[in-house]
Amino acid sequence: MGRYTGPVCRLCRREGMKLYLKGEKCYSPSCPFEKRPFPPGQHGRNVRSRPTDYWIRLREKQRARKIYGVSEKQFKKYYEMADRIKGVTGENLLVILERRLDNVVYRMGFAVSRKQARQLVTHRHFKVNGRVVDKPSYLLKPGDIVEIKDESKDMELVRENLESTKERGFPHWVEVEPEALKGKFVSYPAREDLRTPEIREQLIVEFYSR
Ligand code: SF4
Repeated sequence: MGRYTGPVCRLCRREGMKLYLKGEKCYSPSCPFEKRPFPPGQHGRNVRSRPTDYWIRLREKQRARKIYGVSEKQFKKYYEMADRIKGVTGENLLVILERRLDNVVYRMGFAVSRKQARQLVTHRHFKVNGRVVDKPSYLLKPGDIVEIKDESKDMELVRENLESTKERGFPHWVEVEPEALKGKFVSYPAREDLRTPEIREQLIVEFYSR
């Protein structure tokens, strides 16, 4: 299955939690999940009785996949990668997802959502360590510098995004110079640093190792 391109607010309602996929709207009272916090569709309000263990694990995997906007195939690849790295597989998986260039562009505040970040990256507005990178899945490592290329520096959208993120604060594992439209990926985030909506990564591990 490829990347989901339908109405994103349905995804939050389907997952029963805010996934923060729409930028500013997610923090405002017009967030549809605030008004209708139940699954979409005719039977949306019916509470599913006794979900199976499989269903719970599947939902957790789907939830994480939707938050980061990653395809099934790519997500499984990340899981396998996480499993090969020393340490806790679930945490390794989250760190890999956080290292994606589209995610870092979002965390640095250049974009209001990962979806917008992905678009800015594919449109070739960003450089990593001085070279244009147009792959949203590019994995960053500590010390990497992300910046807007010179020809794109007058983009009002990015400056506005940085302003609103500045108010909410940047994660401590990135250093951002808003005036220079530049940021440094300082270190891999620790599990407690991740300000994603709550993901129970152990359930994802259990899903794949069943
Ligand atoms: Fe839509 Fe964002 Fe609210 Fe989710 S959190 S329902 S994406 S506005």
